[in-house]
Amino acid sequence: MPKTTNMQEQRKKQIAILGSTGSIGTQALQVISEHSDLFEACVLTAGHRWELLAEQARQFMPAAVVIADEQYYDALQEALSDLPIAVYTGADALCEVVQSSEVDMVLTAMVGFAGLPPTISAIRAGKPIALANKETMVVAGELINGLCRQYQVPILPVDSEHSAIFQCLMGEQSEVEKIILTASGGPFRTFSMEQLQTVTPAQALKHPNWDMGAKITIDSASMMNKGFEVIEAKWLFGVEPDKIQVVVHPQSVVHSAVQFADGAVKAQLGVPDMRVPIQLAFSFPMRLKSSFDRLDWYTMHDLTFEQPDLKKFRCLQLAYDALARGGNMPCIVNAANEVVNLAFRENRCSFLQMADIIEATMHKASFIAKPTYEDYLQTDAEARQIAGGQL
Ligand code: NAD
Ligand code: MG
Repeated sequence: MPKTTNMQEQRKKQIAILGSTGSIGTQALQVISEHSDLFEACVLTAGHRWELLAEQARQFMPAAVVIADEQYYDALQEALSDLPIAVYTGADALCEVVQSSEVDMVLTAMVGFAGLPPTISAIRAGKPIALANKETMVVAGELINGLCRQYQVPILPVDSEHSAIFQCLMGEQSEVEKIILTASGGPFRTFSMEQLQTVTPAQALKHPNWDMGAKITIDSASMMNKGFEVIEAKWLFGVEPDKIQVVVHPQSVVHSAVQFADGAVKAQLGVPDMRVPIQLAFSFPMRLKSSFDRLDWYTMHDLTFEQPDLKKFRCLQLAYDALARGGNMPCIVNAANEVVNLAFRENRCSFLQMADIIEATMHKASFIAKPTYEDYLQTDAEARQIAGGQL
């Protein structure tokens, strides 16, 4: 139920957050708190952190919550039994809640391939998407774009680089000559190959500029994250990969840039804070005030830019290769990456082995040039099995 108190009051935008207990999800709730006159969280969902989900539900009073992992359903239901909040469980429930008539926008802040089905379900129900779950675009960008055209659904990017590019393109009608996709380079930017052989998950989890969920932090250390962002940029902005230049910029102040036909370059800058792109996705086409930190121009002495090392960070090259091959190859890479990313975090594979296993999976998994949705599900399962078999 929309909770407007008087008839004159404008209806608040009702936002469904898939993955409300994560890094993006909790920051999205901070944005909603800051602008509680404009936004309301009408659906909150989590994978397994039911206690935090219950706490969030008590504070934000959504109409519904979903705990994907069914073993926590009873505990969550019990914790919220005194409140008028519908409690659901299971992956199918995620696809159902986003279709509710009261939902105005869906923030996809889940991690991994699991974000694909509920995103498709939301698009089919005509819900605008605030897209954080980049894996959806990596796996099935072409399919998602087709569905968005069919159901006339906009995608508002939340990923900081893509939000920056989106902001650079605001008001522009001319063709893009080049996208400059910036990358921090992660914690191992200056490491030698020898050093990379022995790096630990704890070292990889210390990102220099961003505090993010574990999976994307490891992807940032391997630079697979940047490879995924190249694929995401291709589908979001219709720009071919040879026009997307990855530039390492360790300070993460320039969030990305666009170069136009006359050579002019527009960049978007700011303090690294994901609440800025989240808020813009919620409020677009307006910009809202924020209490977040501002850039201090007198202390920014060094903004540096360098070329990525594709030999050291092979995952970035593999993502380029997958994009060039097309079809279900990015889906294969994503699935293999999810397997090795977790294995690395659990000390079951080394940092450099991750790229070896992904590459071998790319050779072994069945290639499909024009995959359907069902093909993606099958590819994901097959590639996970192949990658898992090499650990
Ligand atoms: P996170 O691990 O901190 O949070 C993930 C959320 O998804 C949690 O609420 C978790 O409960 C839920 N979840 C995980 N697996 C699930 C499943 N199988 N079913 C249902 N729910 C599940 O991750 P994050 O860092 O917030 O990232 C979320 C997404 O946003 C990722 O796709 C990531 O690439 C993208 N992203 C994150 C950042 C960032 O700063 N954290 C920046 C850009 C893009
Ligand atoms: Mg990013």
